[in-house]
Amino acid sequence: MTNRCIAFAALLCLTTFAAATEQSLRPGGIAIVEIGAAQDAAPSASLNGKKVLVLRRDEHWYAVVGIPLRTNPGELTILTGDEQKIINVGAHKYREQHLTIKNKSQVNPDQKQLDRIFGERKIIDAALNNFRSVLLDDVSLSAPVAGAHSSSFGSRRFFNEQPRSPHSGMDIAANTGTPITAARNGIIAATGNYFFNGNTVIVDHGQGFVTMYCHLSETAVSEGQHVTSGEILGAVGATGRVTGPHLHFGTYLNGTAVDPAIFLDP
Ligand SMILES: [Zn+2]
Repeated sequence: MTNRCIAFAALLCLTTFAAATEQSLRPGGIAIVEIGAAQDAAPSASLNGKKVLVLRRDEHWYAVVGIPLRTNPGELTILTGDEQKIINVGAHKYREQHLTIKNKSQVNPDQKQLDRIFGERKIIDAALNNFRSVLLDDVSLSAPVAGAHSSSFGSRRFFNEQPRSPHSGMDIAANTGTPITAARNGIIAATGNYFFNGNTVIVDHGQGFVTMYCHLSETAVSEGQHVTSGEILGAVGATGRVTGPHLHFGTYLNGTAVDPAIFLDP
């Protein structure tokens, strides 16, 4: 094998492993970084002090790293043991999205509502940052409801023309009452009725890989429950800050929102 072939093979190892999962070096994407040989014990890796998902595939261990949406283009450093791995994050311009919300307090909450939002944020953040040790060999997901996927992940949002946080998930259009199923085996990390997200279920799939299902009409699971891929979590609704019934589907790695399309079959 020539050096060029070796380099090419290494590049392939770095960029793709499961058929459905490819790295995407943009804010809100993922990096897949080889961090060791399969015969060695599981290495650990971190980004910005947060543990990242590590999995074993074929001859290697890989870190699968969520790249925060607010990352500026340039280098990010993954730490693994005494080593540093540099990933180069490219620029990506997400589009703008302008939405009109009839319930004005959902755009400009009063103090009592802000207190509620602050309390809920702590519960949601804790669930999204769960890191549970479990052996994984892929990060694929199945679609939680059939329906048209929007490509609005990351879009810079304006509610009633006021700028707000970028869109942290994928919206899937479906009628109220359509069953929502778990995208992968996991444990229910939180359920609740939240000010912005409405009725919500958060599922912990292990090693910081977490999925979130929002705006449900009803939930069918409770915290601590084990679920298997395809098990019903609840039904599509229009609770929380919405313009109509749909599922907001969020996917998280190392506590950061990444584009759900990365993990789903096209
Ligand atoms: Zn959404």
